[in-house]
Amino acid sequence: MTLTDLLVRIPPLAERRLALRVTPAAQRALRGGHPWLFDQAITGLSGEGRPGDLAVIFDDRRRFLAIGLYDPTSPIRVRVLAHGAPATMDRSWLRDRLAEAAAWRATLPESGTTGYRLVHGENDGLPGLVVDRYATTLVVKLYTLAWVPWLPDLCAALGEVCPAASVVLRLSRELMHRPEFLFGLEDGAVLVGVPPVAPVLFTENGLRFEADVLRGQKTGFFFDQRDNRARVGKLAAGRRTLNVFAYTGGFSLYAAQGGAPEVLSLDASAPALAAAVRNFALNRDLPTVAAARHTALAADAFAALAELRGRGECFDLVIVDPPALAKQEDEVERAVQTYARLARLALGVLAPGGTLVMASCSSRVSAERFFATVNRAAQQAGHPLRELDRTGHAIDHPVRFPEGTYLKCLFATAS
Ligand code: SAH
Repeated sequence: MTLTDLLVRIPPLAERRLALRVTPAAQRALRGGHPWLFDQAITGLSGEGRPGDLAVIFDDRRRFLAIGLYDPTSPIRVRVLAHGAPATMDRSWLRDRLAEAAAWRATLPESGTTGYRLVHGENDGLPGLVVDRYATTLVVKLYTLAWVPWLPDLCAALGEVCPAASVVLRLSRELMHRPEFLFGLEDGAVLVGVPPVAPVLFTENGLRFEADVLRGQKTGFFFDQRDNRARVGKLAAGRRTLNVFAYTGGFSLYAAQGGAPEVLSLDASAPALAAAVRNFALNRDLPTVAAARHTALAADAFAALAELRGRGECFDLVIVDPPALAKQEDEVERAVQTYARLARLALGVLAPGGTLVMASCSSRVSAERFFATVNRAAQQAGHPLRELDRTGHAIDHPVRFPEGTYLKCLFATAS
């Protein structure tokens, strides 16, 4: 597709702006800079809006509070673009936001990293929008239909700030159920340029990786763990390593590069593990990677950890990076129990004095709760932990509002 094709396909937005009145609590939250307005907080609306319409939010005295993108299909009804003073949302406004986001990440390419998150949604002032860069391929992932009418402007602005050979569209699951607002665009559509020769290749701290940007999880790779992976690399020399929830082998490859003689990648997804094996092959010119024995095991993590223990297998370094376990508030208690169970299972195959690296990407489980849960589980299992570090996201995942923090990672040795 070209930009012109995209413009033809997506009808222009109405010039009209919606005016909204909201509850006192929402007024306070918006004054404090919060980027979301929920549907229940709306007390008055000037008309019927469509996804992507601009919504202006006023306080009780009709003073301007914020302007944002309206989405009648989402409980997050408005995602704020500007607080306090009106802004003109257009291509040049978008270009300025993208340029700021790009400047924040300017040092990454210098460290041999061509795969990173260029735009991290709300935290980069572009709520509900993620743009991941994989060398010359950009992946635009939408978490609200409100961005769909803005795609031509967004793609044009991206072309100015970060020119790419192709721009691929990915949609969060809920969006796929509303084709009436997608104008025929589907998950994996190529918005601009040529379809990427899948999988795309990129580098992270000099290591080579492939990613399936059209079908892979998220946008194809988990960039948020970059710094934690590098730290694992530094800990891995001489250590037999187990990577649980390995996906395409990110942690595994860093461990091998760092000198782990043997690495076992465990994941339920056979295609992800096949990519992990190919990622090892891509880096075979590195002596430590060539020397490491890498094995992939496609299995359920819980069953496989119990089985490895039953066989008396023992590792010096165990990484546990499960998927988000609590997507909503009522799943938090269960998620906490699962983290405890995973910690016990991991400790069951960890050598005395070995290192446990355990991460949580569930934003609803607080860092404090997660670290306490893992420590308590270890204590109860008779392997109290000595913490080495508590870490979070890499630099391309800045945090600008409470819900923006989600990743926490514990590095600890077990007795
Ligand atoms: N550590 C990875 C990202 C992990 S994403 C990285 O650095 O790139 C979470 C992974 O957990 C996915 O690959 C998914 O396939 C896997 N997964 C989810 N449930 C699982 C289960 N019950 N057993 C094993 N793997 C599972």
